[in-house]
Amino acid sequence: MNEKIARFFEERRPQTPCLVVDLDVVEQNYHALADALPDARIYYAVKANPAPEILSLLSRLGSAFDTASVPEIQMVLDAGCTADRISYGNTIKKESDIRRAFELGVRLFAFDSVEELEKISRAAPGARVFCRILTSGEGAEWPLSRKFGCDLKMARELLLKAKAMNVEPWGVSFHVGSQQKDLMQWDLAIHQVAMLFRELEVLGVDLGMINLGGGFPTRYRSDVPESAAYGQAIFDSLRRHFGNHIPETIVEPGRGMVGNAGIIESEVVLVSRKSAADAKRWVYLDIGKFSGLAETMDEAIQYPIEVLGETETETEAVVLAGPTCDSADVLYEKAEYKLPLDLKAGDRVRIHATGAYTTTYSAVCFNGFAPLQQYCI
Ligand SMILES: *Cc1c(COP(=O)(O)O)cnc(C)c1O
Repeated sequence: MNEKIARFFEERRPQTPCLVVDLDVVEQNYHALADALPDARIYYAVKANPAPEILSLLSRLGSAFDTASVPEIQMVLDAGCTADRISYGNTIKKESDIRRAFELGVRLFAFDSVEELEKISRAAPGARVFCRILTSGEGAEWPLSRKFGCDLKMARELLLKAKAMNVEPWGVSFHVGSQQKDLMQWDLAIHQVAMLFRELEVLGVDLGMINLGGGFPTRYRSDVPESAAYGQAIFDSLRRHFGNHIPETIVEPGRGMVGNAGIIESEVVLVSRKSAADAKRWVYLDIGKFSGLAETMDEAIQYPIEVLGETETETEAVVLAGPTCDSADVLYEKAEYKLPLDLKAGDRVRIHATGAYTTTYSAVCFNGFAPLQQYCI
């Protein structure tokens, strides 16, 4: 429970749905990660929550930034950060956007194909590049696997090729999948990266950097390991596979930096049943899949939900859904959510741990609903 956010909701009574982010929690998360991984450079994954207050706080704390587009780069620059602390980490970029990023001073680019490498060599000559390799995404609640990365053989060929293409082959990246609770997944990837480093060294390419990606979790309905456990597992793995010659490392936390810093308040719009014999009540909120809760897709991310005010202590299983006229806008049907028997329209609920991947996933105006409002306090 976050007293500061609770007080804000009580005093300001903002229109719902509304996300409130506590910047003190973001700062604590930054320090916890920095302490857990003292040798790694933190590149905050901007897409998780690009609120200007969050970007300028992290910039002040010394964070660097992982971006996916020119507008994200611009937001980071506007927050007072310099381009030498920005990585253009998307492996899918327009050549014109690579050129624009290069003009803005960005010198670090990701790729996972020869076609992308060619674009970078034309639009960002001399830049540092890193190749993203495939991971299984196993153990992650929100896997990112198949779409990004190439296999080790291709990575080796591309990094070898890069040398002759007027860019600097600088390192290898991977992402073990978001909300990754299996610490050993980093070891599997680091093992592969170490093999790649050795093969390339023999071929005359000395890589300098491993990008360990994101994946650091937020606590939703069940416990997750502490940052320190991640730091220890990663450090042990680097030692195991690189001995005393550990390269420079980068981490790109998104969810783990902001997830637990935010709480959404929402209003119950309707509580009903589909038939007199219906075992479950349907609870429709004023927020749904299209207004910020996209990560409820396949019920992957299960947010803790708290009902406000005086309600009956007896609870019963419900189906939770959003307010739009789209049948995909159901939040939880299989996952067990139990809400008070006397829950009714007008009651307010708090959806916890919603600081990451909510405002950015909110539609502009689907069905006339406004984008998710956010306050950073
Ligand atoms: C989204 C993303 C991240 C952040 O992932 P989290 O699991 O939220 O930490 C990091 N790196 C890249 C390249 C990403 O696309």
